[in-house]
Amino acid sequence: MNTPLYSGVIINYVCTAACKHCIVASSPDCPKDHITEEMAENIAKLLSESGAYSVHIGGGEPFINFSSLCTVIRALSRNGIEVDYIETNGFWCSDEKFVRDRLMKLKELGVTTIMVSADPFHLEYVPLVRPLILCKMLRECGFDFFVWKERYLRQLSRLDINKSYTEEELKKELGDDYVAATAAEYGVGMNGRALAIADKIYPRRSYEEFVTSSPCSRLLVPHHCHIDLYGNGLPDGCPGLAMEMHDYLNEALSKEKYPVFTALVGGGTEALFNYATEKGFVPRAEGYPTRCSFCYAMRRYLASLENPTRDLSPISFYHSMDKEDI
Ligand code: SF4
Repeated sequence: MNTPLYSGVIINYVCTAACKHCIVASSPDCPKDHITEEMAENIAKLLSESGAYSVHIGGGEPFINFSSLCTVIRALSRNGIEVDYIETNGFWCSDEKFVRDRLMKLKELGVTTIMVSADPFHLEYVPLVRPLILCKMLRECGFDFFVWKERYLRQLSRLDINKSYTEEELKKELGDDYVAATAAEYGVGMNGRALAIADKIYPRRSYEEFVTSSPCSRLLVPHHCHIDLYGNGLPDGCPGLAMEMHDYLNEALSKEKYPVFTALVGGGTEALFNYATEKGFVPRAEGYPTRCSFCYAMRRYLASLENPTRDLSPISFYHSMDKEDI
């Protein structure tokens, strides 16, 4: 069995924000499903059996359901798995006493480190004052923390920290090209919701340029993955593709159960194109900006057919992406 290292647990997909760079396309419209105690225990046991010793916790926004977050931390702890850090956009941080109480609860459960998101994309949904309050309280409560990305705290602090900003307002403040500049600075993987950014900033090329038999290397590292609240094992960086977590970690991936994934692993986008065209996929005449964009288009088509295959999961990812202009 592969041992997940530098891996994470997605405890819910729903989020208070719908950031332009979100790889799993989280938003307030995602299903309001939260991880159950039973699933938390199953995941923690599997991680332990695999030899993993720590994971980070993310979402969606993991602080949307604090009791579910605590349930996961307890299950991990019972099974000897430490929490590397918990990700949050800080939306819940307006009252210092409330923040302190939650942080002290997390401290009791053994959490030491928080990752705070702050950048122009989050600023469309979360006023900067909230991550600033969170950082202050983390310092006072003796936590380790890091801000992703620290430089944006300084850059954005010159704006009104008590309000969120629309894209048009941010263009006036940061420049017309701030979306592309932020994506580049962030090192955004240009997948998930960021496919819409790629669609706007890269020229489109014929799909034929993206048909290649080279396997997608990202799919071949099951030791660096996410496991979600539905028990999916998710390859790093390729949202909308998932296997049952046991199958993924054990690399027990049959062509019958996982035809899309095995096509990409065995024969790259060429194999997926052959599979998708057999099912009726027709590439768009105006082309695609990237190989991942072409891959997404084929998978979106396949996910829209009756009884989509197990590897096109979670299906809510495709529904969420349907709201994007791509
Ligand atoms: S082409 Fe598809 S499988 Fe390959 S890296 Fe991009 S999204 Fe992942």
